[in-house]
Amino acid sequence: ATPTAVMVATGVGASQGVLIKGAEALETAHKVNCIVFDKTGTLTIGKPVVVNTKLLQSIAVRDFYDLVAAAETNSEHPIAKAIVEHSKKIRVDEEKHVRPEARDFVSITGHGVKATIENKEIIVGNRSIMLDHKIQVPDNVKDLLLEAEARAETGILVSISGQVVGVVSISDPVKPGARNVISILKSMNIRSIMVTGDNWGTANSIAKQVGIETVVAEAKPDQKVGKVKELQANGSTVAMVGDGINDSPALAAADIGMAIGAGTDIAIEAADIVLMKSNLEDVVIAIDLSRKTFTRIC
Ligand code: ADP
Ligand code: MG
Repeated sequence: ATPTAVMVATGVGASQGVLIKGAEALETAHKVNCIVFDKTGTLTIGKPVVVNTKLLQSIAVRDFYDLVAAAETNSEHPIAKAIVEHSKKIRVDEEKHVRPEARDFVSITGHGVKATIENKEIIVGNRSIMLDHKIQVPDNVKDLLLEAEARAETGILVSISGQVVGVVSISDPVKPGARNVISILKSMNIRSIMVTGDNWGTANSIAKQVGIETVVAEAKPDQKVGKVKELQANGSTVAMVGDGINDSPALAAADIGMAIGAGTDIAIEAADIVLMKSNLEDVVIAIDLSRKTFTRIC
């Protein structure tokens, strides 16, 4: 392709909200035959909401959410935001309600949070955070988690003073166009893979909804990088699509990193291509633009 063709293609991209950072990124994109997608905020809308609450002890739902929300107030995680929102919603009729305060807040990346509230230790998170704190998860609670996961929801466990007292189900639906994008990519001979920090059950349910067959769940940022490198070692040219801080190392490691425009600044900086409109369809636009610019029939 001539420099003019590259310039024109970059301009066409920009006019459609596909920001291509340089000629090399535009060129590499046409070789991509494998795309690694982050789940939360990339394949899913990324605004989780509380859809179900199961309490195992006699505690009022409002009091339960007071404690959970107090523990989550200082967390930046979308799950924390969903819980805090929910607790406000169920107290909306009580103008003067005073929420309890949390002390000794600790955030455990990829697992959950803990804090002390009214002299009780509250832990909110996944199975591993309970295991790490030697808190028993009864079989009926394990079943509740599996049921939530089968519905593509994430089940969050809540313990008070070492006892699991509730399960909060969080739903983060897939983006309406996601399934179609995966199927178009397939028709372009591009294989799609999903990586996520979320649990295996939820991850597999979401993957099924969008038509992805290969999944890596419970993945830390360096495991996302590991998957990208493994695919590269097998001869693939790999694009990574993500939105979070935890995706940025993988965005940088991939042959092409594509950041969701609505994502975090760190992801946008690490990427070679930014999808300004946060549309998954623009993954196809970017690769198509590169193919048109760099594949010559004659
Ligand atoms: P994702 O890639 O889905 O954003 P993370 O690595 O951020 O995953 O988190 C993995 C899992 O850890 C979440 O699905 C959730 O079960 C648990 N988790 C993380 N942060 C929190 C939090 N603030 N509150 C409750 N659970 C959390
Ligand atoms: Mg994400």
